[in-house]
Parts: sequence; C-alpha cells; structure tokens
Amino acid sequence: MLSDKDRIFTNLYGYEPAALASAKKRGDWNKTKDFMVKGREWVIEEVKKSGLRGRGGAGFSTGLKWSFMPKNDPRPSYLVINADESEPGTCKDRDIIRNEPHKLIEGALIASFAINAHACYIYIRGEYYREAEALQAAIDEAYAAGLLGKNAAKSGWDFDLYLHRGAGAYICGEESALLESLEGRKGFPRLKPPFPAMAGLYGCPTTVNNVESIAVVPTILRRGADWFTGIGRPNNAGTKIFCISGHVNKPCNVEEAMSIPLKELIEKHAGGVRGGWDNLKAIIPGGSSVPLLPKDICDTVLMDFDALREVKSGLGTAAVIVMDKSTDVIKAIARLSKFYMHESCGQCTPCREGTGWMWRMMERLVKGQAEISDIDKLEEISRQIEGHTICALGDAAAWPVQGLIRHFRPELEERIRAYAKRNAA
Ligand code: SF4
Repeated sequence: MLSDKDRIFTNLYGYEPAALASAKKRGDWNKTKDFMVKGREWVIEEVKKSGLRGRGGAGFSTGLKWSFMPKNDPRPSYLVINADESEPGTCKDRDIIRNEPHKLIEGALIASFAINAHACYIYIRGEYYREAEALQAAIDEAYAAGLLGKNAAKSGWDFDLYLHRGAGAYICGEESALLESLEGRKGFPRLKPPFPAMAGLYGCPTTVNNVESIAVVPTILRRGADWFTGIGRPNNAGTKIFCISGHVNKPCNVEEAMSIPLKELIEKHAGGVRGGWDNLKAIIPGGSSVPLLPKDICDTVLMDFDALREVKSGLGTAAVIVMDKSTDVIKAIARLSKFYMHESCGQCTPCREGTGWMWRMMERLVKGQAEISDIDKLEEISRQIEGHTICALGDAAAWPVQGLIRHFRPELEERIRAYAKRNAA
C-alpha cells in the first residue's frame, strides 16, 4: 500500500484550493528552472530511467516516446496533451484538472522543453466544461506569475499553453483523431505511419501524452527516477490513479502503488464489494475496452500492465468497474457493444459494420434468442475486427465480447437453452 509520503497528488480530493499559492505550498513549481538548465537530454533520460509508462492506456514508455522526436528539424515541434477522457469508468484526469492543475501545467512546460516545443495544446473533452474553466483559470494564473509565456519560469524558454475544448466524441481521444479535431476537421483517425513524432499537428513533429503522464513528471524529477522505480514491480513502476466504480460500497479515485493486488485495492479504498468479496461476479480492470475478469482471477491478480496482460486483460486507464452477482453480465457487455457501435467513426468496414453486428448479436444473446453456434460466430467476427482497423476502437469493441465468451460461456449457453425451453413450452 502506498504511504502518504509517496503520494504525488496530495490534493486529489480538493481539500485545499487548486490555486497557485496553495499549489506552491504543495511543492509545485519548485526548482522547475533547475531541471531545465540541465538540458533536454537530461530530462528525457531521467524520465526514461524512471520507467514511467503512459497513463492513457497503451502503457508505452513516456521517455522513449519523447526521444523519438526528430533532432534539428526546421519545423516547429508540439506537445499535445490528451484530456479527452472518455473511456467509460475513467475519471482520473478530471480530478487532476480540478484539483491539481498546476502539476499538469508545470509538467507541460518541462515536457515541451524536453521535446523542443515552444507550444503545447491541451485537448479537453467538451463535457468537462467546469474543468476547462478551472484549467483556464490556472493557466491565466501561471501566465500572470511569469511561469508561462516569454522566458517561462525564468528558464530562458519561451512557452505558450493553449486549452482547446472538444465537442464530445469518444474517438477524439485516439491521438491522430485528436490531432485532426485540433486542426478543425472531423475526428477521423489517421493511418500510421507516419506517426505523430514525424508528422503530427499541422504536419509537424508532435508528441501526444495523457494528462496523468505529464502531471507526474515534475515530481519524478524532484524526487528522482530511483524513487519512482522503487514503487511497484520492475517494468511497472510508480504510482497510479485508480478509478473504482460499480458495485462497491465507496466508489472513489485513489492514487496507489502500481502492482497493488486488485482485491486489496478494492477492500482498502472502496469499502469492499457490495455484499462482500464472495458476492463478486466480475471486474473490468482497466476501462470498458479491456476484457473482464471473473472472480477467481480477481482473487489474486496484481494491478499493473504485465500482470493484467498475462491474464489476457489490460491495465488500460486503470478504471476498475466492479460487478457483483446481481449483474446480468451479458447485458452489461451488450451495453458496451452499443457504446462502441455508436462511437465508431465509420472509416473502416470491419469496425463500422462489425460493431453494429456484434451489438445486434449481443442483444439477442441477452434474451437467449440464438443458437449455441452463434457464440462461436460472434467470437470469430470479433477476431475479424481485432487488429484489422485503422485505430484501436475496433480492438476496444472486440475485447469485451471476447472476455465475456472466454469467461462466461456457460452462462451464455444457459441463457440460450432457457429461451429455447420457454419457446418450446
Ligand atoms: Fe473509425 Fe473504427 Fe476505423 Fe477507428 S477502427 S478509424 S473508429 S471505423
């Protein structure tokens, strides 16, 4: 369990004001210039050494991503921060923006310096209206204090930070769709390559990072890479904000050590599963797009990238959605299928047609109005979507269905048999 002294987000719950004066008392903006004086290579190396992996879902090394930015390129470079937090179950960036905006703003300055960017855009989802107001107020405050703008934080680096509100499309959280949207077009994901580091915003070198990934950087530099790697397991370092929702007694956001056992996370912070741990049916451990896990795996699994991959799920955004035994798990996954169908941008056939097909099949399975062989057909269709699309939304739609079939096939078959029996009668 994470001790209080190791917490990065000490004001996650907003008990203190988010304003600059309070943020400085919590340690923000301390020694910012000193890190930048050490040079961009030092910053990148330190972040690499810390083992920080992207907190937006993919889990790619943040320092390594920064190092992909071209050196000596005549084009301007950009940092784009993805605050389009739309994955169902996820609300961690919202609390950072509400209560710790200066960690994000300071991180934006340091990260932009590291990748040679004089401008950074924060793309925030449209529904986060109050959060956008709060973040803009913090940005204005930072400009007034000389922390942004010309010679930002007296570092000698000129830096501008812009906040851009999206219009509420889930697909705009996909990095290339986000860039399209930022440029004023429809949020259609782009084919890769080229990757944003080569041709991103306005065709220039761009790094896209999640809010949490950027907000933890100043503290990592202040406390040292070794401190960060000392938390969690090798290759799964640091702290992480977990969003726990669903059938728990006290749903919450909590910063914890990476690799904490899932059971401990829920029992210590969320007041346990409603009706006790034995009343647990399944958990989606990383936001709606990752496959769900049945109770027997949840009993022992650790919450990190590698452990969850080993059990064929994923850490994703670390949004833990708990379902107790009262849940109709088939209906729950059918609802997710509807979500992904609705959010598909329609560019590629497997996703456009497949998500709708899966949803319709799932709706029939909720009633049991299907053949046993339809389960295999559903699985096969999901495999034809997975990995055959422009962006990861196709995978995100396929994985919950695959998880359901993998772990709850007997329940699906039982529903079909019960329907057939009722019909025969
Ligand atoms: Fe659009 Fe789906 Fe293709 Fe992504 S996978 S580009 S959301 S159609």
